[in-house]
Amino acid sequence: MLNSDLYDTIVIGGGLMGSSAAWHLSNAGEQVLLIEKQTEKYHQGSSFGEARITRSLGPKKDIFSWLHNRAVAETKKLTTFLHENQSSGRSLMNEIYTTSPVTYIYYHAQKETTDGLIAEQDDPIEVALNPEEAFSKFGMSVSDDAILIREFKEFSGTLNPEILIEQLHRAIRLQGNTIWFSQRTNNITLKNGLFELSLEDAGTGKKIILSAKKVITAAGPYTGKLLKSLSPAIAKQITPKRVCLAFFSITEETWNRLSPEQQSKAAKFFPLIDMNPDFIFSMIESWDDHGVPVIKIGGHLRRESIKNLDPVWGKGLSTEEIEWACSNISGYFRKLNIPIGRDHLLLTGGYSCVYSMTDSEIPLVTEAYDANNCIIPGLVVMGGMSGVGAKGSMAYGLIAKNLLLNKSETDQMYRKTVHALSINRYTH
Ligand SMILES: Cc1cc2nc3c(=O)[nH]c(=O)nc-3n(C[C@H](O)[C@H](O)[C@H](O)COP(=O)(O)OP(=O)(O)OC[C@H]3O[C@@H](n4cnc5c(N)ncnc54)[C@H](O)[C@@H]3O)c2cc1C
Repeated sequence: MLNSDLYDTIVIGGGLMGSSAAWHLSNAGEQVLLIEKQTEKYHQGSSFGEARITRSLGPKKDIFSWLHNRAVAETKKLTTFLHENQSSGRSLMNEIYTTSPVTYIYYHAQKETTDGLIAEQDDPIEVALNPEEAFSKFGMSVSDDAILIREFKEFSGTLNPEILIEQLHRAIRLQGNTIWFSQRTNNITLKNGLFELSLEDAGTGKKIILSAKKVITAAGPYTGKLLKSLSPAIAKQITPKRVCLAFFSITEETWNRLSPEQQSKAAKFFPLIDMNPDFIFSMIESWDDHGVPVIKIGGHLRRESIKNLDPVWGKGLSTEEIEWACSNISGYFRKLNIPIGRDHLLLTGGYSCVYSMTDSEIPLVTEAYDANNCIIPGLVVMGGMSGVGAKGSMAYGLIAKNLLLNKSETDQMYRKTVHALSINRYTH
């Protein structure tokens, strides 16, 4: 802090992106204040939950593969820092990541994509190009037009956002920086070259004004609203979308009736990405007290536009959505030849989640322009992270830090990724 209300850098939003950016800045020796509108118990936002799919597979020079792998490397550095500064004896990498083969189901109409993925692939994968191979290699019964790919790589599987955010916050504090919870930023303006932030305490309603030399906005689905007057061009690019999530357990009796091999197969064939028209994602979210998996399912291409964001978080699932979720999970167990039918599935929960999206579905980590199309010095925006943000969050935060501090890296993939994430991609 420079004086009572002038800060060097403020990061708005304590989800995966803002926490990652605030950590990278803290680790670079910067003075940072991270502001989050929720309480310390994170319960709302795109990053809420215990599992997100992490995967490396992509064609040659794919930015999302690079982001994933760089994120794993950055998470290792974070956990090393934590071990050195607060040794707990816990294996933090294994708490953040659950390594488990990622199963992809593609279809013949996507053959060009799968050919590109399979050719000269550096990641360890196994492929089944037809139903016979699917059965002999994976014990799966699939339709004639299915192409299966399975990715076997350390730290591919799932990532636990709750634990990663918790560890990032610990590390930010260990570096001497501060996190404020229950503080909503209502407005940001530029005055005499400084950012002025109007904050409101979510509990008491008390309002204060803060100034900062530099700002990173990482407000997830609220990013467009927050930047509406400061950077209308960015606000226009980022829109929130509702995605429904359903959670199912398996009756204890059914689970205990499975052989150890069947139980192990059920665990090892999640996470799943089914590239059908709904673009299904499914994963083990957690294990219940009886050792039975709780499976989460959603469909990225079933997402809906949102008019009024705040009430959406409380919107439950429709009967049709529950039915869709149940039949897709039981359908997957049928493909796996594991005797778990729809009658054996127990709905344990479901809610509306929201992510922010750009038209191209490629996130933005970028400098921003004002209404007169002039660059706003000292502002970096992280938004439009859609359904791919979590796995790369530690790399997106690194890029945001570098942009804010005018730093770069010489690596070709780093530069390619920075350009792809920049607002300038629309013009150059
Ligand atoms: C259903 C679903 C499934 C997904 N699956 C995957 C997956 O399998 N793999 C993957 O890699 N990614 C996945 N993602 C994407 C990933 O979860 C998101 O990209 C990521 O969590 C985005 O993080 P964020 O920090 O940008 O947003 P958020 O987590 O929403 O964080 C923004 C934070 O800003 C706070 N905030 C907002 N407005 C203000 C304000 N005015 N003042 C102060 N604070 C504010 C919010 O409270 C919130 O904590 C999925 C997302 C969803 C929704």
